[in-house]
Amino acid sequence: MRFVSTRGDTTVSLDAALVNGIAADGGLYVPVELPSFEVRDFEAATTIPEVAATLLRPFFSDSSLLEDLEQILAETFSFPIPTTPLPMRDGNASLLELYHGPTAAFKDVGAGFLAACLGRLEGDAASPLTILVATSGDTGGAVAAAFDKRPGMRVVVLFPEGRVSARQEHQLTCWSNNVLSLSVRGAFDDCQTLVKAALADAGLNSRYRFSSANSINIGRLLPQSTYYAAASLRHLRGAGSKPGFVIPTGNLGNALACIMAREMGLPIGPIVLATNANRTIPEYFSTLNWVPRASVQTLASAMDVGDPSNMERLRNLLGEADVLRECLGVLSVDDAQIEAAIRRDYADFGFATCPHTATATHTFHELDDELRRQHDWILVATAHPAKFETIVEPLIGASVPLPDELAEIMARPSRSVSIDPQLGDLAAAMSGHFG
Ligand SMILES: *Cc1c(COP(=O)(O)O)cnc(C)c1O
Repeated sequence: MRFVSTRGDTTVSLDAALVNGIAADGGLYVPVELPSFEVRDFEAATTIPEVAATLLRPFFSDSSLLEDLEQILAETFSFPIPTTPLPMRDGNASLLELYHGPTAAFKDVGAGFLAACLGRLEGDAASPLTILVATSGDTGGAVAAAFDKRPGMRVVVLFPEGRVSARQEHQLTCWSNNVLSLSVRGAFDDCQTLVKAALADAGLNSRYRFSSANSINIGRLLPQSTYYAAASLRHLRGAGSKPGFVIPTGNLGNALACIMAREMGLPIGPIVLATNANRTIPEYFSTLNWVPRASVQTLASAMDVGDPSNMERLRNLLGEADVLRECLGVLSVDDAQIEAAIRRDYADFGFATCPHTATATHTFHELDDELRRQHDWILVATAHPAKFETIVEPLIGASVPLPDELAEIMARPSRSVSIDPQLGDLAAAMSGHFG
C-alpha cells in the first residue's frame, strides 16, 4: 500500500510515512485507497491482535515491517480492551474501555504501535533516534511509556512547570535513562516553540537525530481502527447487530479511526462525535463553513482543540460538511453537562467516568429517541477517571481507586530537570543526560 499527502499526489511507502510523520508539503498522509473487507474475512480472528493482523496486513503489503507485524501487534496490545455492559434505562449501551494501557488512556495504543514500528525502522544503538515531545499533560506520558527502555531510541519530554496535575507530572517523569523529562519554566506554547527551535537547529539535529511522534502520524491512526473492528465484530457475533459508536472527540484521531473501519466494511452502525465546548466541528456541520478557531479550556482538557488537524484527512476521505453530516452525528457538550454526566454515571453505573468519557455518556442520553432505541451503542471511554481525580472526586463525593497500571507508575521514583525555555538550556540538559 502506498500513502499520499492530503495536499499533493506524490506517493510514499508506509515506512517513509511513519518516519516522516508529516508530508513535505505540510499535508497529512492517507492511504491511496482503503482495503475492503467482509465479516467472513475475520472468521478465524477473535482477539484484538488477530483482528488487527487481518485488518492492517494490506497497509503493510510493501513495508519492511510486514514480517514483524504480528510481533508489533503483540507489543502494542499487551493489555486488554474489554467492552462492559452499562445499566441504562433508556437504551442498550456498553463501554469500550480504552484505558488499560500503561498510562491509562487510549493514546497508549497509537504511541505503542508507533514506537514498535519506529524502533524497528530507525532504532540504532550507535546513533539513537531522539523523539522530542512537547506536552500539555497526557500525550507526553503515553509517548514516554511507549519508548521507555527501547534500544536505539531516546525521548525528551518537555512539559510546562507547575501546569500539569501531580499525577500527570509523575507519568512524565518516572521512566528509564533513555527518557529525559524537562520541566520548562513557561507555558505549553514555550515547550512547543522550544521543540520547533531544536528541530530546526542543524548542530543539535546532527548530534541527536531528532524525530517527533506527533498525533497526526499515520502510525497512531492505523492501530486505533483495530479496536473498533474487534469490538464491532464481537458485538455482531454476540447480539447479531451492528453497534453504533459515540466517541469523545478533540483532534478527531480516535473518531477517524472508527470511520475508516466502517469504510473498510466492518459492521459499524451510526457514528456520533461528542465534542466539548470547542465547537469547530458541530459548527462546520451546521453552517457548512470550516472556521478553525483558538481553543477554549474545558474540563475535558485533552479535547481542547479548536483546529482539529485530522479534519483534513476526513474531508479527503469522505467529502465536505454536506456529505459528512449525512453520515456522522455530532454534539457539543459544555462543562456543566460534563459535571452532571459524571454525577449521573456514578449513580447509574456505580463507578466513575472521566470528563472526556462523560461527553459520550451525555451524548448517548441526548440522542434522538428513535435512533437510540434502534441500535445497541458502544460508548468510548478514552481515559481512566483516576487520571482526573481532582475533577471527578469532588463531583461524586468518593475517591476513585487507582487502577493497577497507574498504581505501578505512581510507585516509581520521579525525576526531571528544570530549565528555562531557551535552546541553550535544552542543549545543556541533553548533553548532561545523554552525553
Ligand atoms: C486525546 C484524547 C481525546 C481526544 O482524542 P482525539 O483523537 O484527539 O479526538 C479524548 N480523550 C482523552 C482522554 C484523550 O487523551
